[in-house]
Amino acid sequence: MSLKEKDLKYIWHPFTHKGTEIVPIVRGEGAYVYGEDGKQYIDGFSSWWVNMHGHCHPYIAQKIAAQTLELEHVAFGGFTHPQAVKLAERLVDLLPDKIDKIFFSDNGSTANEIALKMAIQYWFNQGEERNKFITFSNDYHGDTFGSMSLTARGGFNEPFERFLFDVEFIDTPNPENRLEVLSRFESLLKGNDVAGFIFEPIVQGAAGMLIHSPEILSEMIGLCEKYDVLTIADEVLTGFYRTGKFFSVDHLSNKPDIICLSKGVTGGFMTMGVTAVSEKIFKAFDSENKKHTFLHGHSYTGNALACAAANASLDLFEKEKTQQNIKRIVKQQSDFINSIKNHPKLRDARNFGTIAAIEIDTEGESNYFNSKGNDAYKWFLERGIIIRPLGNVLIMIPPYCIKEQDLEYIYGEIEVFLEQ
Ligand SMILES: *Cc1c(COP(=O)(O)O)cnc(C)c1O
Repeated sequence: MSLKEKDLKYIWHPFTHKGTEIVPIVRGEGAYVYGEDGKQYIDGFSSWWVNMHGHCHPYIAQKIAAQTLELEHVAFGGFTHPQAVKLAERLVDLLPDKIDKIFFSDNGSTANEIALKMAIQYWFNQGEERNKFITFSNDYHGDTFGSMSLTARGGFNEPFERFLFDVEFIDTPNPENRLEVLSRFESLLKGNDVAGFIFEPIVQGAAGMLIHSPEILSEMIGLCEKYDVLTIADEVLTGFYRTGKFFSVDHLSNKPDIICLSKGVTGGFMTMGVTAVSEKIFKAFDSENKKHTFLHGHSYTGNALACAAANASLDLFEKEKTQQNIKRIVKQQSDFINSIKNHPKLRDARNFGTIAAIEIDTEGESNYFNSKGNDAYKWFLERGIIIRPLGNVLIMIPPYCIKEQDLEYIYGEIEVFLEQ
């Protein structure tokens, strides 16, 4: 049996329906992955938005290898280790001043689930009952029950809808709807029953890289401060320079109480989630009363190999070359989107930082279930390009080591695709 046949026999893939072609990949190097047949693919979507510095980056690989011979893992309840302490210190330094403490876990959904539980217990520990969360319509926060509840209804989570708790969905802000959004938002906050406001800062990834106003989002965080409501930024996608700055919240003048990270933390090598919080949040749990303890943890929390990978990835961000690459990608993406914006086959084209997306004008609404993307996906795959679409939205979110000419090749093929 071939790898593909055995895969079909034994493996159930995520987000993959019957008949979906599965491509066996046997090797990765830089911005490329290689098929079993030797075919080279440009990883234009950073392997589900996680890869930062390229596949099998030798520096990160060596740091992980060295760590496996030093300490691979130790229980994080009651123990600590140098890689975790180093990583937490660095993250606290890099994140906004407001952030003081790092809580580790294993993936993006869980990082958000933890933020949600912290927000609920923050109020519980102070004897206050607050039952409501606010989020943006079209936000995506993950696939566990809490994070699903905080996600736009009707798409990914329809079978589970009656098990999800109620959330107030508010439109994403732009200069046209500013007054409307702010006035509805403020009237919700005045109810005194809102535990927290969770949002994808500036870029809504799974919704198709939709972009909203940093200035108005800052105003909304300011209102939350005024009415004493906790704010949670889900930076699982946007962290680590995807938006051109280290974190998306670096574009905001007001900063959130909690920041969730995952996809890019380890450079795309190991699984890790981070829930970073302000002193104010931590203080509400730091008590002699055992009932006030945050009773949440996972077996692999604070894994030493993942922490070593994350520290290595942060080292690479300090390199001048990485910073130059990020600036170059931001410019390339912006130039391309400007050049193609008015194409008659497009409904929209947008970019923010290193992220770019084009929305193909096709029958039906722009959403995950629009089938246009499948044809496009296959077409690009044949040409050695991986750009996994979300419905009819094609997304380019490359690793920072991608070569200028490889990104240009993707743009050129997009133009060919749109012509035919
Ligand atoms: C991917 C993503 C998540 C979920 O992270 P997983 O690691 O896939 O569980 C949550 N929020 C945002 C904004 C994401 O892009």
